[in-house]
Parts: sequence; C-alpha cells; structure tokens
Amino acid sequence: MASYARTSEDFRQKDGHGVRHQLRINERTAREYGCRVVATYTDNGCSASKRGAARPGFDLLVEDLGRGDTVDGQVLDGVVCVADDRLYRRADDLTRFFTALTSHPDRIYVDPHGVRDPYSQEGLLQAVRSLDVAVMETRVRSQRLMNWHWARAVEGVPHSGPRPFGWLENRITLHPVEAPLVQKAIADRVSGKSVRAIAREWCDLKVTGTRGGRPNPQTVTQIMTAPRVCGYRANRGELLLVPETRQPVLGQWEPIVAPDQWHAVCATFSAGNLYMHRGTGAPRRTAGKAAPRQLGSGILRCGAKRDDGTVCHGALCAQKGRSRKSPYVYSCRDCRRCSISGPLADEALERLLFSEAAGPAQPSAAMRDRWHAGEVGLEEKRKILAAALTGCVVQPGVKGRQAWDHSRVRPSWR
Ligand SMILES: [Zn+2]
Repeated sequence: MASYARTSEDFRQKDGHGVRHQLRINERTAREYGCRVVATYTDNGCSASKRGAARPGFDLLVEDLGRGDTVDGQVLDGVVCVADDRLYRRADDLTRFFTALTSHPDRIYVDPHGVRDPYSQEGLLQAVRSLDVAVMETRVRSQRLMNWHWARAVEGVPHSGPRPFGWLENRITLHPVEAPLVQKAIADRVSGKSVRAIAREWCDLKVTGTRGGRPNPQTVTQIMTAPRVCGYRANRGELLLVPETRQPVLGQWEPIVAPDQWHAVCATFSAGNLYMHRGTGAPRRTAGKAAPRQLGSGILRCGAKRDDGTVCHGALCAQKGRSRKSPYVYSCRDCRRCSISGPLADEALERLLFSEAAGPAQPSAAMRDRWHAGEVGLEEKRKILAAALTGCVVQPGVKGRQAWDHSRVRPSWR
C-alpha cells in the first residue's frame, strides 16, 4: 500500500511536520484495515489547486501505480491518505490518479473513514463529490484573495464621494474638530450614553455630516462603528485580514481610537445596526434588550463582607467611571462596598483566562491569537469566559492604594 501526504503552500510550518503527521495517521489507518504501507510519497508545501504547480510526490505515485510497483520492487495494492483533497483538488488530477489506481486489478483506496472500491460506481462518485467540495473551496478562497488584492490596490487611490466624518479631504489626516468628537462619542457610548443623546449634542454644536446633513442616531452609529475609526480596513462588510497572518489590514490613515475601543463600541449595538453589517446605508433601530456592554458584566461578584461577616456576592454592575484610566467601573449595588476599575477587572479576567491557572478551561492557542489580534467580538469573548468560569469574586480595594492589583479578581473555574 502506498501512503501519500501533502501540505499546501500556505501551510505555516514547511519543516515537514505536517506531512510526517499525515504519514503517521496513514500508517495507523492502513493497520486498522489490515494493510501494510510499503512506500511513502510526500509533497511538502505544494498546491494541488493551481494548474501546472509541481507535485513530484504525486507524479511519482501516479507513475508507480501505473507500473504496479515501487522502484525497489514492492507491489502496490492500494493507496492510503488522510483525505481526498490531499491527492486532488483538480479534475485532471483526479482522472490521472483514478486511471493509475485502477490500471491494475484488486486495489483499494483507504482513508480514516474506511475502505473504498475504486472500480465501483460508488467509489468513483465519492471521489467526484470530494472533488466538487475541493473545487468549491478553491473558488471561495481565490475570491477572497482577489477581494483582498483588489482592496490593497485601491488603498493608494483616492476614493470618490464625500470624505469620511472625522478626517480631512486627504482622508488620512484627522479633522481637528470632528475627530475628537468621534473619540468622545465612542467613550461616552461605551460608558452607557444613548446614541440619541450623542446625536443631540452634535446638533447643539452645529455639527453637520460630510454631506451636510444633521446628525441623527443612525448616522452617529455608522460613524462610531466603522472599522476605519481604529485604522482597520473593511471591504463589503468584512474586515480585511492579511491572508498569511490573519491579522487585520491597517489603513494608511490616522486612527481615532484603539481597536479594543472600536470593539467595545460595536458591542453596544445589536449586530444589525453595525457599520460592518449595514455598509453605509441606513441602519435599523436597535430592538429588544440591550446586550451587556462590558466583558465582566454578570461574571463579577462582590467579595465584600457584610456586617454579619458573610460575603455579599452581589453582582457587580458596570457604570460610568470618573477617571481617564477607568472610563467605567464595576460596582456592587447591594452593599456598595466593592467597586473596581472596569479596564482593570477586564484585563485581569483576560490574563486569568490565558494563564496556567485556567487549566483545561484555557482556550486554544489559535483563539488566544485571534483574541489578542482583536478579532474576537465582545459577545464571543463573554461566551468563552462563561464556558471557563462559573464566576469571579472581586475583593474590595484597599483605600488609598493606587496601583492596579490584579489579585483582587479571584476566579472559580468550571
Ligand atoms: Zn456587595
């Protein structure tokens, strides 16, 4: 039996780890079905979707299958692979592979799902179905890449239409009046102000939109939630990510706020209202109960002692803070004896989640990367926290101590 493994060109590690891993799986699969691997064929970092891309391992496999044995005379009675799309992502490769595989009688194809008879109609149909899926994936991926390249290309080209609110005509330099307004509006919104109130403030200041219109809750929402405010580029309602790193692509303009503030303000709206979901068109009004706006809402509990010596355990609720460092604070409404800086508590929660202490509750490395790259929305973050913690007790602060004390936040892991 021939064992084949391939990693694609965009596979991160080109050190052969990926193909070795696949070969080990093949070895096990073959054993499970009573077969023995006599030869291995690998293509490390090779595309199977590009026409004409070289795959020496695949070529050799097809050649050996056609001849019937390996160069050292081992008879090939089948092929084992982790998945069909390792072997073919193009119709001509499928044809070559099947022709070679079935050129000798009594051969089988094995993958972790089982044994297939390549001479049967069902065996061939299954291969064609796999090809269909692979071709579809390739198409979606290249469409995404095309959009990405297209968006990169237009970066240097001045857009038509009115300038974005907050920037000068060159679309790069911040507008001296508008940019601070947007910054303040985002901070106000994150700490609980209504969009209506912000729009009213702007009207009172005689602010007009770049098309000359009066600010209203919809236009203000669009301005605050556009990814442009934190320097991120978007294309057709999707954040642009650098394909290799999955990091957001940064525009060349000056940002108004940091990415976490943009995420925070987006989280204060229901999805349908966001710039990202609505484009520049008129957004829908927020419906239903407002979603929690802070990471720790509903998770943090009061750790203050009551007069009778028992612990309060009241829910800490986010409210507007007074200092620049703490634009919001979590406070206990039951005993009013415990309150903690919002950013401090949220930071502590994040640290705990990605620390050794989290044990098996710790999210995957991939999730950690996405989280720190700012790609995880507030709702998703809250779900991840809720899955890891049953709650988190906050000890009351010591009066007069200014330094941030992360040890005040004490988690109960699930
Ligand atoms: Zn309390």
